Order: sequence, then structure tokens, then C-alpha cells
Amino acid sequence: MIQLVRGFRDILPGEIERWQEIEKTAVSLFENFGFKEIRIPILERTELFARSIGEDTDIVEKEMYTFADRKGELITLRPEATASIVRSYIQHKTYAKDPVQKLYTIGPMFRRERPQKGRYRQFYQIDVEVLGDESAYVDALLIFMLVTLFERLLVKDVSTHINSLGCSKCRPDFKAALSEFINSKSAALCSDCNRRKDRNPLRVLDCKVPKCREAMKDAPSILDSLDSDCQKHFDDLKQSLEDLNIPYIIDKSLVRGLDYYTRTIFEIQSRYEGAQNAICGGGRYDNLMKTLGGPDLPATGFAIGFDRLAEISGLQSTDLVKRPDVFIAALGEKSISKALKWSCRMALEGIYAELDMSGRSLKALMKRADRMGAGYVLIIGEQELMDGSAVLRNMKTKEQESIGIEGIVENLKKVLLK
Ligand code: ATP
Ligand code: MG
Repeated sequence: MIQLVRGFRDILPGEIERWQEIEKTAVSLFENFGFKEIRIPILERTELFARSIGEDTDIVEKEMYTFADRKGELITLRPEATASIVRSYIQHKTYAKDPVQKLYTIGPMFRRERPQKGRYRQFYQIDVEVLGDESAYVDALLIFMLVTLFERLLVKDVSTHINSLGCSKCRPDFKAALSEFINSKSAALCSDCNRRKDRNPLRVLDCKVPKCREAMKDAPSILDSLDSDCQKHFDDLKQSLEDLNIPYIIDKSLVRGLDYYTRTIFEIQSRYEGAQNAICGGGRYDNLMKTLGGPDLPATGFAIGFDRLAEISGLQSTDLVKRPDVFIAALGEKSISKALKWSCRMALEGIYAELDMSGRSLKALMKRADRMGAGYVLIIGEQELMDGSAVLRNMKTKEQESIGIEGIVENLKKVLLK
């Protein structure tokens, strides 16, 4: 038996209905805010991720699926979507038409992490980006959209955590203060942190190792080093969240696992899940466009972990599974061939008629109809064909009526759409 690759999984019918509902809800919400879909490739040149996400990050150091293609070029299965969206915006000079682009994409991402509940090697993200706009109001709007989405998906106990990472003007001061603090704690930090602390001290704040978290508890906060522009940006964000009635928590230790963030960063957490409680991460990345060789334009966005969202959404898959409007229990060859035409016509008329062609006994068919949750069963055998009328059984009330075979689709529609 050939099994799945570790950390990869199938999403089966029964579970997929929830995924579909989440996707529908998200897309309709995003489109009401003027977002357009973009589809980007699953493979990109390794360099794109190395340069945007950052060489010293967990993702680039140890999580990427990178390999040489047949000509030796290094390519990577995308670990996230932002880099590709920015690459596309630069490559097609989309900004020349209209610098402000509001985009979303939904699809699989790949990271070679240790698999556990809520953490997979192929996982899915719902990714939203606003390119070309530096306003804090856009950040607030994104958070509003997120909170609304989680509400609609019946996700309980979510909290919004925000922080600012400042900009390239105010961050150096902060980095210096942070480095000093880190050096005083280096004995208590893990080997990754010790290796990265000089090149990228912010990474240490993001380390998940408990002893590092403990050691970094009283680290200096970037919020004390913001320059006046960044301070105003952060104040505007807080004020807009208040105006939009969105409760938030300022979390000065929040940084994100990717290097490109500036100013606003945020995370939506759910109390529900324990360890893997971050269901969405996002923030502003005003310098990424330039870093990737594009124009000096700001951007902001977020990525929702679809798998985690599906696990904690209160939507019930069983309520979402499509059940047959009518189950056709056709007995005998002749009835099956007649019923085949009816079921095809019904599908065209928007009626889901499940036709069982197995030729099994009526008892077996009734059992299956019941299991599938059919609203009605249409029984058609040799006798019914001769009489010109089939038996229609209401599975809820158990009432039966006879229904004319002549014009049967119309006759059924009258009953089913009643
Ligand atoms: P974490 O801290 O949980 O590793 P992250 O900071 O690496 O998350 P991001 O890169 O910000 O995550 O991705 C955004 C969201 O994607 C996360 O909040 C999470 O819900 C989801 N996510 C990230 N990695 C995985 C994974 N391996 N499996 C499932 N979901 C994931
Ligand atoms: Mg991670």
C-alpha cells in the first residue's frame, strides 16, 4: 500500500464542505470590499523567497522545499504568497495602470516543519494584499474584514494582537538596544537565537523555544523607539480600530517570522486550539517592493491559515453536505434506462436526483436513500412503467403519493420546490 507523504493529507468529502463554505464566505466578503483574485504559480525561483522572506528566518533556513530542476536551476515550492504577488506586480508593471491593487489568492503552501495538529507540510492560506497604499486606515480595514470573516464563520474567542515594527529610520536604534539586551541574556538562549542574534536580533523575539521566551520577557519594546511618523501611523491604526469597534491587544513582543515587515503587524489568535493558536498573521511591508527591484511603493496584507480556520470554525460539515432532493430507486433494466434520462434532465433543472443503478433490491435502495439523507424517494419498477405513474415517498413524513411519468420532471418540480 502506498501511503501519503508525511505532513501531507487528503481533505475528503464530509470535511470539504466546510472548506467550500469558508472559501465562498471569504470570497464574497473580499469582493464586497473591492478585492480581485490573483492566481500565482506554486513554484518560483528560490531567490525570490530567500530575498523577500529573509535568509535568517526559519522558513528560509530550514522549512523550504527547494530542489534543482533538470537544468540545475534552484526552484522552491512556495512557502507563502506575498513574495509572488509582489513579484507579479513588479514584473507586469501593474502599478503603472493603478498603483493601488487590492488582491486575494487562496491555495496551498509548503513548509517542511514537524507535522502536528494544525501544522502540516502542505497547508492552505487565504492571502490578501493591498499594494501601493501606505495609510494606517488600510491596515484597519484589513483587520475589520478579518474580524468580520471570523464572525461569519462562527469562530469563537478570537483576539486581535497588534504591534508596530517601525521603519528603516527608527529600527536601527531599537535594534541596538535590543542587541544589548540579548547579549546580556545569551547564556539563556537557544543555539538558533545565538547564531542569529547579531545579524538579526528581531528574530530572537520571534523564537518559540520556551526558555528564549522567558529570557526575552523584559526585552525593550520597539514602541518606545518609534519616530514621530511611525508613532502617528500606529496611533491612527489604534484610533481607526476603536472607531470600527474592534477590540485589540497591543503586544509589544509580537514580531513576525518573515523579515519584510515594517510598521503595523498583527496576528489573530484563537483561544480554542492551544499550541497552534495563530490563525492569521499579517502586516505592512513598505520596503519589500524596492528590495525585490520594483518601485518604492508601500504594501500591507495578511495570510489566514485555512487548515486551522477549518478546524475551529463553528460551521457544521453535516449541515453543509449536499443531500439528494430525490433518490430514484429504479428496479429493473428498463426503469434504470428511463430514469437515467430523467435524472440528467433534473440536474439541468437544478434538482439533484441520485440515481442508483446497481440493480439491488428495493430494501437495499431504501436503506441507501436514508443514509444519504434524501428528501424523497421515487420508486419506479416494471409495474409503475406499465401504469404510467411512479411512487413518490416523502422520507420525512413517510407519506406516499403517485406521480405521473408523463412530464415527470415538471411533476416532480411542483412537489420538490413546494
Ligand atoms: P506559526 O507561528 O504557527 O509557525 P507563522 O508565523 O509561521 O505561524 P505565517 O507565515 O504568518 O505563519 O502564516 C500565516 C498563517 O498560516 C499562520 O497564522 C497559520 O495559521 C498558518 N500556517 C503557517 N504555517 C502553517 C503550517 N505548517 N500548517 C498549517 N498552517 C500554517
Ligand atoms: Mg512558522
